[in-house]
Amino acid sequence: MDEKISKLKKIVSTSDKIVAFTGAGFSAESGISTFRGAGSLWSKYDSSIYADINYFIQEPSYYWNFFKDERYPVIKKAKPNDGHYALVELEKRGKLYRVITQNIDGLHQVAGQSDVIELHGNTRKILCTSCDKFYSMDEAYGRLKKELPPRCSCGAILKPSTVLFGEPLPQVALDMAALAAKNCDMFFVIGSSLVVYPAASMPRIAKKNEAVLVIVNIDPTPMDDMADIVIHESASKVLSELV
Ligand code: NAD
Repeated sequence: MDEKISKLKKIVSTSDKIVAFTGAGFSAESGISTFRGAGSLWSKYDSSIYADINYFIQEPSYYWNFFKDERYPVIKKAKPNDGHYALVELEKRGKLYRVITQNIDGLHQVAGQSDVIELHGNTRKILCTSCDKFYSMDEAYGRLKKELPPRCSCGAILKPSTVLFGEPLPQVALDMAALAAKNCDMFFVIGSSLVVYPAASMPRIAKKNEAVLVIVNIDPTPMDDMADIVIHESASKVLSELV
């Protein structure tokens, strides 16, 4: 581990266009469950009911009950962890070029990160399905307590701005992420299983364009073999040591 951290420090010291690519494991230490692995969200909730666009269209109350009982209380309570603050510190030192995140919790921004590309949306922003008006999480929760599913003032049903299964990723975010992956000198995967596509295609784009690839994840990933450094450790521990 110490040897790998020393190697990581050397690479970071010679890089000035680092792209951090974060996944659910990055927020695990903020108390937000991952999707896969022990204690994960989908071991408690069926994703084809609670996070699928076709199910949402048929019966939105399932999602909104999940939001009320699980999403809202967890996200409301969650605070950025040492990993989030370490990335802000790398940005201050002029090392970090972009953060690409698969997370929908908005914790990078809460920590003070300025340039975050969100591939799967943000659960703190709630959208009207008809007039494109946005609501905060608190406003949606307030409406939810009065009617299920919650509705916009125009009468249409509200939907989180997160990407549900069966929905395409936002094209602008995807293009910006691919461009960042192409232009970086180090691609830093932190806390992602690298199995959800097209997000997981980003490390390959970076590697093809000769970036150094670093993976920090507790469990092995399918891309460990192509990485220059792999550290199977907690994200916040490695990042705190790094900065
Ligand atoms: P994932 O659940 O598939 O994988 C998470 C990975 O993180 C696992 O491989 C696990 O070994 C690792 N991990 C767990 N705790 C860790 C820690 N403390 N330090 C380092 N690694 C740790 O998540 P994913 O790869 O991000 O992709 C799946 C989807 O999960 C994405 O679409 C994302 O939108 C969604 N998601 C987001 C949140 C969030 O916003 N916080 C939470 C759950 C799921």
